[in-house]
Amino acid sequence: MRMSRLLLKTLREPPADADLPSHQLLLRAGLITPLAAGIYCFTPVGWRVIRRIEAIIREEMDRSGAQEIHLPALHPIELWEQSGRDKSMGDTLFRLSDRKERGFALGATHEEAVSFLASRTIQSYRDLPVTLYQIQTKFRDEQRPRGGLIRLREFTMKDAYSFDADWEALDESYRLAFEAYTRIFQRAGVPVVPVEADSGAIGGKDSQEFIFLTENGEDEILLCPGCGYAANAEKADFAKPPAVAGTAAPLEKVATPDRKTIAELSGFLDIDARQTAKAVFYRIDGEPVFVTIRGDLDVNEIKLKNVLKATELEPMDDGMVRAAGLVAGYASAIGLKGMKIVADPSAVDAVNLVAGANEVDFHFRNVNYGRDWQADLVAEIALARRGDACAKCGAALETRRGMEMGHVFKLGTMYSEAMGVQYLDDSGERHPVVMGCYGIGVERMLAAVIEENHDANGIIWPTDVTPYDVHIVALNLEQATVQETVTGIEAALDAAGLTALIDDRGDSAGIKFKDADLLGIPVRLTISPRALERGGIEVRERRSGATEIVAIEAVVAKVREILARS
Ligand SMILES: [Zn+2]
Repeated sequence: MRMSRLLLKTLREPPADADLPSHQLLLRAGLITPLAAGIYCFTPVGWRVIRRIEAIIREEMDRSGAQEIHLPALHPIELWEQSGRDKSMGDTLFRLSDRKERGFALGATHEEAVSFLASRTIQSYRDLPVTLYQIQTKFRDEQRPRGGLIRLREFTMKDAYSFDADWEALDESYRLAFEAYTRIFQRAGVPVVPVEADSGAIGGKDSQEFIFLTENGEDEILLCPGCGYAANAEKADFAKPPAVAGTAAPLEKVATPDRKTIAELSGFLDIDARQTAKAVFYRIDGEPVFVTIRGDLDVNEIKLKNVLKATELEPMDDGMVRAAGLVAGYASAIGLKGMKIVADPSAVDAVNLVAGANEVDFHFRNVNYGRDWQADLVAEIALARRGDACAKCGAALETRRGMEMGHVFKLGTMYSEAMGVQYLDDSGERHPVVMGCYGIGVERMLAAVIEENHDANGIIWPTDVTPYDVHIVALNLEQATVQETVTGIEAALDAAGLTALIDDRGDSAGIKFKDADLLGIPVRLTISPRALERGGIEVRERRSGATEIVAIEAVVAKVREILARS
């Protein structure tokens, strides 16, 4: 491809509104152009990289035995009503209607659509196992699209779904998908760690995320240096410090003037935070919920949402707090009426806690569960934090930021039961199919490739995803020897199955070199009168910056050598 004809507009300066390195470089290298919040156009070079990432995914999915299909993006809303996700997806689901006012949704994901297909095609145990995948556009009305290609409203996803006769067979399908993912991320140059992930309100069994560890990630990951346990903070288990022991003493009201926080309260009474009860108020699916947990712990809002099978969770607003008669800073579940009370076992099992008296400037001492208060639901809702003890080995957990690159999930029979995906076993008995699902975001993968592979001058593409193998900078192209050499090298590369981008523009060498670094193609060949005088072509490896003059007939071999290690 000749750059003089290529639709490409590089930028000298990083755009002001781009924070992440990948976002800045995608814009500076001219790979994408925003159309609206979370919606991007891809230019020819950007699209070539997307196609290469898709090719890696396709090859590895095919290698794992999965079969490619294509499902529609436009779904009758009844499909989503059947699974109940028209409600649980909330406002994330894009909804529209046709000219006859019939409801439709744009596919945010495809469990429903693939289940429909499976229900029409899978009949007997002989049809199982099967794993289907597609690489297709998804639409999600994200509240906060961000980070260039990190969180989009329209994006491409490789989504795969496995169908098995039972959970044991699913284990094998899951393992194959897991291995395919490991190869995909390795080839794309994105280092990932598998971590235990939240399965969401719908349940399911195992769920793991492939996390790219980066300071710019929006997920918090807890890692155990002792045993290697790794989990998303949303899901992470930990060993809570033991409660302070004792025997239940009589309830006693104490004045605690202006001591609203756990720190203020425990300092004033000279007690450990473990001897207090913390109260947190939420509005969950529109209803007030009172949550209590031991004072040294925090509430994990995702776990809370899951135990309540809720869709929306937000802090209770002042109006609701006042209407409920809650006294912020002095609230407890003692005598509380008119709202659901959820408690972590830490608050239930501890004796003689200090908890609010539901009266300004007063607390109770010696508060005990059962005698003084009750909960509607007792469930594990504590948040694991840096320094907490690992549930498996006791070592102090560490935290890292990360970005979710892929997700593998044992769904079970939730969708097959809702959507009627059944098979007949060898004795003619009908069973729901056991499903798994597996996703990778393609644009996010592109962003992560750049986050991991760049320097101050630009992108450094790994060989498997680079838009072109070789970047040829031609200088003094008006000279016949340069022109002939460019044509000769182009033909030699083509014959070797290598692709080249040729900078034949009339710009200065400085501009061409800057653009070459920015575009990040693994090998740069400079064809100039000076290099030819010195005996050949200047070969420069983008990643190391190493430069040498290579004789023309040896250039293809040299290019191959660099690509093999890039
Ligand atoms: Zn551990």
